[in-house]
Amino acid sequence: MEKLSLEVGAYEVNCSIICAEGRAWIVDPGADADRIADLVSAKGLLPSGIMLTHGHFDHIGGVPALQARFPGLPVYVHPGDVPMLAHPMNQNPPDYPPIDMPSDIRDVHTLAGSDIPFKVEVIETPGHTPGGVCYHLPDAQLLLSGDTLFAGSVGRTDLPGGDMPTLMKSLSKLLALSDATTVVPGHGPTTTIGTERRSNPFLA
Ligand SMILES: [Zn+2]
Ligand SMILES: [Zn+2]
Repeated sequence: MEKLSLEVGAYEVNCSIICAEGRAWIVDPGADADRIADLVSAKGLLPSGIMLTHGHFDHIGGVPALQARFPGLPVYVHPGDVPMLAHPMNQNPPDYPPIDMPSDIRDVHTLAGSDIPFKVEVIETPGHTPGGVCYHLPDAQLLLSGDTLFAGSVGRTDLPGGDMPTLMKSLSKLLALSDATTVVPGHGPTTTIGTERRSNPFLA
């Protein structure tokens, strides 16, 4: 398994591409779909799925263009965030116009049971959004934390569907992971669970 990373869009979302057995799973293609697709194609990978940490516009903006370029590409997302995907409020033009409802939306809980060739644990982490999840890849000691946990900070809870007590419960789930776990947040620098446990003021 290999992970490729790109920073995409005006909100500088960390888009990860998980590569295994010649296939690619694209996490949070928030924008710059052509750049993501070109990288996948240049590596000779078969794109096999889009994995969303949550439904905010800055994390989903590239979905329609990726599905146009790779027909049949399914989108894995928690059902709790499906209503916001094509919601007229979920936008920030001109960079992020509202999108049509993506095709082939699949419940993220079916991801582990799909033919995915690496171990992935979907950790439900509501609080930033109702259907937020983190992806834990235990064999890589990697956590893709979306906008739940950042280096030195946590996700905002003042947007529609956000809730601070719920987020705090979600963060306590993440702290059950080992200190050595690398954390790639939805925005900003990579960190580790151990570093955040010791120094993140929101986790004290
Ligand atoms: Zn967000
Ligand atoms: Zn975000």
